[in-house]
Amino acid sequence: MYDTIVVGAGVAGCVLAGELARRGNKKVLVIEKRNHIAGNCYDEYDEYGIMVHVYGPHIFHTEYERVYEYLSQYTEWYEFGHEVHANVHGNIINVPFNLNTLHKVYDEEKAARLENKLVSSYGMDSRVPILTLKENEDPEVREVAEYVYENIFLRYTMKQWGKKPEEIDPNVTARVPVVISRDNRYFKDKYQGMPLQGYTAMFEKILDHDNIEVQTGTAAEELLTIKDDRIYYEGEVFDGPVIYTGLADELFGYEYGHLPYRSLKFKFEHYKKESFQGCSVVNYTVDEDYTRITEFKYLTGQVNTPETTIVKEYPEAYNGENTPYYSINNPDNDGVYAKYKAKADRIPNLYLLGRLAEYKYYNIDAIALRSLELADSLVRGSE
Ligand code: FAD
Ligand code: UDP
Repeated sequence: MYDTIVVGAGVAGCVLAGELARRGNKKVLVIEKRNHIAGNCYDEYDEYGIMVHVYGPHIFHTEYERVYEYLSQYTEWYEFGHEVHANVHGNIINVPFNLNTLHKVYDEEKAARLENKLVSSYGMDSRVPILTLKENEDPEVREVAEYVYENIFLRYTMKQWGKKPEEIDPNVTARVPVVISRDNRYFKDKYQGMPLQGYTAMFEKILDHDNIEVQTGTAAEELLTIKDDRIYYEGEVFDGPVIYTGLADELFGYEYGHLPYRSLKFKFEHYKKESFQGCSVVNYTVDEDYTRITEFKYLTGQVNTPETTIVKEYPEAYNGENTPYYSINNPDNDGVYAKYKAKADRIPNLYLLGRLAEYKYYNIDAIALRSLELADSLVRGSE
């Protein structure tokens, strides 16, 4: 009845199903346990008529021409350069820290002096890791690195990852940059913005094909079982490709233990006023239990709405009940994952794909590209 089964209707599942149905002319069944498609990119209008991202703010950005062109077949774009601010004890500054930020943190004279020093040491338009700044012989330049570490990086990272300061990997610290530029955009990618009608509408179009059947509200376990390295669909052996985008540990009954994740609690609030914070994202890098507040109207270009909806993000551990959002990659956890992967590799028609199944952080564009490439090889293989 079906040639291919796809578990999960997130970015990975939708792209794969769409490509196999169209280019491969395969009959595809998509099984999704949530009652909607689009995975964590899912967006919808709230009761006040404002489009919100239910699983946190998602900004599309890419350098991959292939991904941009592929998705552009299914959506137009609201193009904008995403900016992020940080609230440092009430002072609103730009993140990543750049030359504009200098002028919000230091008095005019000191900011101008530091700007000259940074530009002459590192050159305009460079990104300098704070670890490099810390090695500068000028104490005033080292002070900038210290400021960024203390006021932008440390507390935010402790909240996000549930860590104590001494547990924070210095290699991660090293990646936090100071940007020698006046460009306030968070991403540098050529393409950045939002699907004009939203992500859900874009993925609906991708799945809208006669060869695709989507069953939402259905967990894979209800239909699929694995026994002796073979996959069974409703009790019958299924030899076609099965693309699995759910949790790798769950697929194998947690045989080697649970893979740890960070989760998030989202608290939505609505205000009967035009604006809450005047911009899309403010990170709370020193105070509060939440990491950031997103005001959707600025993210999705709905700026003419008379009221506003925001969401606060509270990080927490994944406990099996809440949603696993971020894999916690370290040698121990990656070692456990490798065992699940080896088990999956013994099943020739099983493909683990996506941020859950591969225990890996993917941005939207990266997983879309990976899915297009897997579709290439599956279509080629069946020609
Ligand atoms: P998912 O979107 O998680 O899709 C997997 C789907 O599989 C889910 O719908 C799930 O319900 C389903 N599923 C799982 N198990 C089963 C099962 N057993 N049976 C049936 N269905 C199952 N990326 C960006 O590029 N820009 C951003 O700004 C950005 N912001 C983010 C913000 C947050 C808070 C988070 C958590 C992520 C963000 N990302 C962002 C990353 C983005 O969410 C991922 O790239 C994308 O969701 C990955 O798609 P996926 O298909 O791998 O996984
Ligand atoms: N980060 C930080 N302060 C900030 C923003 C980010 O310390 O204001 C750190 C933090 O450790 C975070 C990482 O940088 O986990 C990546 O943040 P980013 O916003 O790029 O990624 P996302 O949280 O969307 O995955």
